Amino acid sequence: MVSFKGHTSIADLQAYIKQNRPSLYHGATTSTVIPFTKSILDFLGDYRDLTLVDLTGLPKKMEHEGDEVFIEGPVTWSELMAFCHSHNRDIGCYPTEKSACVLSGLATSATGDRCFGFGTLRDLVTEITYLNDKAQEKKLSGQKHFPHEIKAYSASLEPYRHFKNPPVPWLERETDLMIGTEGQLGVITSCKLRTISWKNLTYLFLKVPHWADDYSIHLNVHDAVQKYRGTIYGCEMMDKHLIKFGGRHLSGDLIALEVPLEHLELVYEKVISKIDGFSVDDSFEVSPEQYRKNRQKRPARLAEFLRQNNIVKMGTDSQVKPTLLKDLFEYYKKWVDIPHTLFGHLGDAHLHFNFLPRPDQRKECERRFEQFYHQVAQWQGSPFAEHGIGVLKKDYLKEFLKDSHYEMFEMLKDIYDPKRIFFPVGYMNLKQGQ
Ligand SMILES: Cc1cc2nc3c(=O)[nH]c(=O)nc-3n(C[C@H](O)[C@H](O)[C@H](O)COP(=O)(O)OP(=O)(O)OC[C@H]3O[C@@H](n4cnc5c(N)ncnc54)[C@H](O)[C@@H]3O)c2cc1C
Repeated sequence: MVSFKGHTSIADLQAYIKQNRPSLYHGATTSTVIPFTKSILDFLGDYRDLTLVDLTGLPKKMEHEGDEVFIEGPVTWSELMAFCHSHNRDIGCYPTEKSACVLSGLATSATGDRCFGFGTLRDLVTEITYLNDKAQEKKLSGQKHFPHEIKAYSASLEPYRHFKNPPVPWLERETDLMIGTEGQLGVITSCKLRTISWKNLTYLFLKVPHWADDYSIHLNVHDAVQKYRGTIYGCEMMDKHLIKFGGRHLSGDLIALEVPLEHLELVYEKVISKIDGFSVDDSFEVSPEQYRKNRQKRPARLAEFLRQNNIVKMGTDSQVKPTLLKDLFEYYKKWVDIPHTLFGHLGDAHLHFNFLPRPDQRKECERRFEQFYHQVAQWQGSPFAEHGIGVLKKDYLKEFLKDSHYEMFEMLKDIYDPKRIFFPVGYMNLKQGQ
């Protein structure tokens, strides 16, 4: 039976860990790869007595120290951003879903819109504290090397060097023990993140044709922004189907560039006016307040639509090499016969195609996903660039796993979780040939 447990102090949580019960420790449950509902029972196998442990009742704290911020407990991205802004600082990476917890973001190796300008959350973290399997507090440094090495494991990640995340965790820095390992090796309790200076921002929108009719301008925008990472914070696209959920009906898509006001003129002069096939007249500016308001509206309306129509969204999370963005659009074009939306991180060639299938179309979507991940493997793309693997993508991971990956997972589980109490149905428990 899955049961639920919350803790209101670290001491309570430590006492619980010492009971050695197989558990899944979670934050805001916004994961798109773990169904935090009774359907999780379908994935538990031998661990049907798994306990879901809610970490959101723990005390929270934020402190500002120079250009770093210290975060303890279940602080959300919205809370962290408000805190940083009140200290004239900002954060260089956060997931689109800001009700998610920052510490969970380490566990999932979160990235997001500003990854285009500043890299991934992993790049920003300098220190992590976690509770190990004996409930002892341990510190990890972003400056130190990962203490275990399997040469073939490290070598297998080289083709992914320029992606946000490889199919398996990096395991290069000491902090990597907790990054992308999805809570399978301990419970994260605090971290330190580097921040950036706060700047007045604007959102520059480009009206472009619908990608399924003509994605040539999408490609041109992608290419034009590459030299301006950091000057431009983010380069996102949303297709006309998604825009509808924000209450607007357009014939084409929108691309949004997040730009500090001080760079706006330069971006118009050096980027926008140089995009082949695009007229500056098809651009408009939106304030951060308006942008946030619209962005918040969309997921709520989409969720309501899904609930009312008994639809379960099924999405991709793959990033490809810049030269293969065209092939990714072409591939997604084959899928437009089933209701869908396309949105995501255009500047990073990382787009989420979300099927919104009727119940009778779900099997077909699963079949298409199987073929798709096979294709991503052939492209040497990153199959799960930011949302993680959880339980829903475990089967798709198998195609990407090598002997050294299984070897590394087993070694880490034996050292850090010998009693298999941390998320024992996560991907690190996969066995070769299963
Ligand atoms: C609309 C939408 C947009 C999204 N956009 C993005 C995006 O742009 N980028 C992105 O990266 N993700 C995105 N996500 C995915 C999701 O928000 C992230 O994976 C997020 O990091 C999950 O945070 P959470 O607090 O909800 O964690 P949960 O869903 O509660 O848990 C996720 C995983 O983290 C582990 N975990 C949680 N807390 C801890 C802890 N303290 N210690 C150890 N392990 C822990 C859990 O065991 C679980 O494996 C999006 C999701 C939605 C619904």
